[in-house]
Amino acid sequence: LVAQSHPHHQTIVRLSKTVAFGGEELVIIGGPCAVESLEQMETVAQQLKFAPVQALRGGVYKPRTSPYAFQGMGEAGLEVLAQVRSQYNIPVVTEVMSISQIEAIATHADMLQVGSRNMQNFDLLKALGQAGKPILLKRGLAATIEEFVMAAEYIVSHGNPDVVMCERGIRSFDNYTRNVLDLGAVAALKQITHLPVIVDPSHAVGKRELVAPVAKAAVACGADGLIIECHPEPEKSVSDARQALSLEDMVNLVASLKPVAVAV
Ligand code: PEP
Ligand code: MN
Repeated sequence: LVAQSHPHHQTIVRLSKTVAFGGEELVIIGGPCAVESLEQMETVAQQLKFAPVQALRGGVYKPRTSPYAFQGMGEAGLEVLAQVRSQYNIPVVTEVMSISQIEAIATHADMLQVGSRNMQNFDLLKALGQAGKPILLKRGLAATIEEFVMAAEYIVSHGNPDVVMCERGIRSFDNYTRNVLDLGAVAALKQITHLPVIVDPSHAVGKRELVAPVAKAAVACGADGLIIECHPEPEKSVSDARQALSLEDMVNLVASLKPVAVAV
């Protein structure tokens, strides 16, 4: 179902009347790794809305390596997202980790993110076929392109055609960059599926000073959008602080992407 057909087809995944992946416009999703407070998300929305960033991100259920690390605000975080969403009239994206969370998240968010660690959680993927909301599917930590495409196939074959694929780097021998961004996969996915493909440069490189150049390369490579972590006080981020951009750097990055997008 997700394979490219002849003649060439492009799926458009719509988040709102004005925001859609796979069309002419590059879609930028920005925001912190984790929702930490209403004030934090209001500051982010205020500063980014006119960048323009077309959607906000923020995890409220966080898949942390350590069980002792901050696990996310949970339902209270969903309420924060719901509030900024309506106050600033901007779509929001947040991660779903289990089937039991789908209903509440789908009520408050415009797009449900499947994190790398759940890319092959097949029961979750099947259930998301019935979520009634677009899905942002991130590539697994060490997933092949074939496995990634088949994960998308699970969601689509269970009833949800609105899947956006996200390359976020894969594990390799060198962890100087947190992961290794696979731009070849972006080019390949654009050819072998009709789904929109976006890139997460933040989790790919893991260091804020490397995010901007890699983001530009992703756009030059044909990505339909980007998801980038940024924070009002990057060093104070409760998770993924090292890769968080300041809001000012985020606004500057968005401006610098325009000429690249036009050239592609
Ligand atoms: C995230 O987006 O904050 C996240 C946990 O990403 P990934 O699943 O790609 O590691
Ligand atoms: Mn993160």
